Amino acid sequence: SHSLGSLGQSRAKFISAEERTGVTFDDFAGQEYIKKELQEIVRILKNDEEFQDKGIYCPKGVLLHGPPGTGKTLLAKAIAGEAGLPFFAANGTDFVEMFVGVAAARVKDLFGNARSFSPSIIFIDEIDAIGSKRGGPDIGGGGAEREQGLLQILTEMDGFKVSTAQVLVIGATNRLDILDPALLRKGRFDKIIRVGLPSEDGRFAILKVHARNKFFRSEEEKDTLLKEIAEQTEDFTGAELQNILNEAGILTARKDLDYIGRDELLEALKRQKGTFETGQEDSTEIPEELKLRLAYREAAVAILACYFPEPHRPFVETDINSIRSQPNMRYTEVPGQVFARKSDYVNSIVRACARKLFELQILAVARVIEEEMFGIDNLCWISAKATLEASRRAELLILQTGMTAFGKAYYKSYSDLVPNLAVKLEALRDEYMRYATEKCSSVLKEYHLAVETITDILLEKGKIQAEEIWDIYKSAPRVAKPPVSS
Ligand code: ADP
Repeated sequence: SHSLGSLGQSRAKFISAEERTGVTFDDFAGQEYIKKELQEIVRILKNDEEFQDKGIYCPKGVLLHGPPGTGKTLLAKAIAGEAGLPFFAANGTDFVEMFVGVAAARVKDLFGNARSFSPSIIFIDEIDAIGSKRGGPDIGGGGAEREQGLLQILTEMDGFKVSTAQVLVIGATNRLDILDPALLRKGRFDKIIRVGLPSEDGRFAILKVHARNKFFRSEEEKDTLLKEIAEQTEDFTGAELQNILNEAGILTARKDLDYIGRDELLEALKRQKGTFETGQEDSTEIPEELKLRLAYREAAVAILACYFPEPHRPFVETDINSIRSQPNMRYTEVPGQVFARKSDYVNSIVRACARKLFELQILAVARVIEEEMFGIDNLCWISAKATLEASRRAELLILQTGMTAFGKAYYKSYSDLVPNLAVKLEALRDEYMRYATEKCSSVLKEYHLAVETITDILLEKGKIQAEEIWDIYKSAPRVAKPPVSS
């Protein structure tokens, strides 16, 4: 058999090819049912003839969908690794070119390469970039080109004979809703698997995978610590969990310690909760403009926390001494009840809704204040990250709390069973985002003098305690004037 090296010069730059990925299903943790389904596919890939005799064929296309960082690429590589097949990867955005004929030619290149090494695996990440619905609005231009590329993918996939599994095409997207239905038809990507955010047990299992090459004082201590981190990382992706362990490893090395301890893990968790690629670490030298932006954000968040107090998490203080994408406002946790009665369950659902809505509003306000104070053309990463997080909160509010027009909560793993969920979800999410934004905007207008006062104190002293915030809030003259018109 020939090695990938023989592709030599002809290997197109946009394709990354690996003869052996070296990744196995052991590298992916949580969501065991996904692995089970994919293991089945690997078994068919490896024992093609035996299965064909029974009339079982490998699907031609598998579509993995879910949020970024949940391990879709990892799974695709694991399929190749487990089946021992070469792996050809490209990104949907590489096909979107303005030059006539390029998209289709690149698709041909990709499939041609994979076919000459068949059996093999093709992986197309962000397949929505090329495979979005035809006839929709042509955002970013290049619509006709993209359509040619999409048609070429369909032609290539239809060209494979079902009876001979030669090339398995794996696509990944976080926008299942905008994919062209033609891609999802039988004989194309007809196996659709949702890769969602991990549960608490899943997070523990993922942390264990990434702790394999790290040093802990003992196995018992490792388990205890990782359990604690798993409890505190609701909504985290596998990629983020991996970052926590890597960061903890770095902190440990920096302190010249032999083992990762609780302090290092919690510090790494704190950083991960607030990081955004600002390229900046916490330092005493925060640029003046950023300080001003942070002060306004914290002041706005503080006013909102007074306006919509969250009884189960009273806030304590806030500061502008660290640069984080999430507000610096700190809360105390009121411990939950150990003995739960029926009424407690009812209350806890109400609380969960209120909590999610609260989190959504706290994030939305970060964007609102930045737009009002600095103008829409002057937004920075603070609002970018806040908006991203806010829409995630809105989605969770809809899916997990049942506080929606659907009247039901949806477990993520069931969400594929609901027709048009993606479309409904998007519409509702927009509605929540609009609601939160408008609400924040009107609260800020009403309390704009209090926001200014808190901002001044933050700029002067660096931090402010809850009592002082409450005093300012309660005694603030309320005005119906936008803060921007100063
Ligand atoms: P996606 O393709 O969904 O954006 P990736 O596969 O690129 O996500 O994930 C990035 C990295 O995060 C992986 O290489 C892996 O190290 C880690 N990771 C994500 N999900 C998991 C998981 N379920 N188990 C173990 N590691 C994971």
